[in-house]
Amino acid sequence: MTKNTRLVYSTDPTLNQKCPKCKEVVSECTCEPEVDPKSYQFVAVLRMEKQGRGGKTVTVIDRLPKNEIFLKELTTLLKKKCGTGGTYLMDGKEGVIEIQGDKRDLIRPLLLKEGIKSKG
Ligand SMILES: [Zn+2]
Repeated sequence: MTKNTRLVYSTDPTLNQKCPKCKEVVSECTCEPEVDPKSYQFVAVLRMEKQGRGGKTVTVIDRLPKNEIFLKELTTLLKKKCGTGGTYLMDGKEGVIEIQGDKRDLIRPLLLKEGIKSKG
């Protein structure tokens, strides 16, 4: 704990805020605004997909809020709990997580524990 933290304020502190994504000051930032997963009503959709030439099975969790921190944390949690690899994608309109293997039965209760409803 630092007791003598000195904060320097400009007249408008928001002008000095930097975007966590592109590191530009907020007024210069052109990033898409991210949704707040706490205020975003959604039902995640689970489905199985075969990937690549080897036809590896992945569990796809679709229709998630497009919020990088949220997706990153959820992916990390699911990978750890499922003991497998995985990744998240933000290419489309919504966030998507891919977890290797058929882990639907494991993922469903984990999502529910995080307050995320799912179907599929
Ligand atoms: Zn930005």
